[in-house]
Amino acid sequence: MNAPAPLGLRRAVALADYTTWRVGGAAQWFAEPDSLEQLQALLAWAHGASLPARVIGAGSNLLVSDAGLEGLTLCNRRLQGAELDAGSGVIEAQAGEPIPTLARRAARAGLSGLEWAVGIPGTVGGAAVMNAGAQGGCTAEVLESVTVIDPRRPDHPFELTNSELDFAYRHSRLQQEELVVLAARFRLQAGHDPAELSRRTSGNLHSRTSTQPYQQPSCGSVFRNPEPQKAGQLIEALGLKGLSIGGAQVSPIHANFIVNTGGATASEIDQLISAVQERVQAAHGLALHTEVKRLGPFEGLALAA
Ligand SMILES: Cc1cc2nc3c(=O)[nH]c(=O)nc-3n(C[C@H](O)[C@H](O)[C@H](O)COP(=O)(O)OP(=O)(O)OC[C@H]3O[C@@H](n4cnc5c(N)ncnc54)[C@H](O)[C@@H]3O)c2cc1C
Repeated sequence: MNAPAPLGLRRAVALADYTTWRVGGAAQWFAEPDSLEQLQALLAWAHGASLPARVIGAGSNLLVSDAGLEGLTLCNRRLQGAELDAGSGVIEAQAGEPIPTLARRAARAGLSGLEWAVGIPGTVGGAAVMNAGAQGGCTAEVLESVTVIDPRRPDHPFELTNSELDFAYRHSRLQQEELVVLAARFRLQAGHDPAELSRRTSGNLHSRTSTQPYQQPSCGSVFRNPEPQKAGQLIEALGLKGLSIGGAQVSPIHANFIVNTGGATASEIDQLISAVQERVQAAHGLALHTEVKRLGPFEGLALAA
């Protein structure tokens, strides 16, 4: 290592504590930057040391290998904050801002367009990367632009507009390119009744928590829907609810969720994903692709998105 290590850098940090599945090995190097400057300094340090670097948000769409991750992993959940303009409907949010918090604030300000986002336990950055969506809405419909940096040139932030992000169902260009999202600008519809928006937002949350296993560690829906079919319905029709490998189980409540019933490993979850894919392929000739992103090495041959 040539340059001195920046403040906040830690070694061998268990990533299970930073993912909603509660699985995953250790990051070789890890930090939770408190400021943009610190994030940039950490990326510059990794680049100078020829280490791979990545940024995660709330870890709510990640399957991190039991073997852990080489290089630097940055969690940006401390980089929170958002400014809402109730007149124009414009929201400027930092990438680590929790998307449910933003949805609630927007509703209280009479801004419509994020009511669907209240049950998605991720960050603004993760929502932009994944084009997160629910209940008929998605990020691409309300996002105007993102401010990003290339980890190899962390001192040069630049903007990508909505049309440059190649948004599609649970997809954006950011999944292919190693760009770090620093902030996002949204444009919502102003002038709505805050009480009505808050009611709708709470209703959306209730309909999810009453039909999905929110009390157990998971990553939400594991598989992309093979439109026009629903992955959950295909899996349920094959009688796979409750199928388990070790501590990983196809949720008895919602078949597109795999839950950690306690002590599951990433490998067990990965094997269960493969088992479900094989059964659906054999029964319907359909390849189910994962919505969840794997990080690090995995043995299985499970189909990625
Ligand atoms: C109970 C539950 C319900 C869910 N329901 C839904 C749902 O209805 N709809 C839906 O779309 N998803 C859902 N999800 C999945 C998940 O919440 C979303 O995909 C979310 O957008 C991920 O955000 P995150 O901050 O957790 O990203 P992470 O999981 O931390 O990361 C996801 C990917 O984005 C990258 N990334 C994250 N932040 C940045 C950044 N700042 N810059 C560059 N790359 C970044 C990561 O490297 C990774 O590749 C659910 C998850 C759970 C646990």
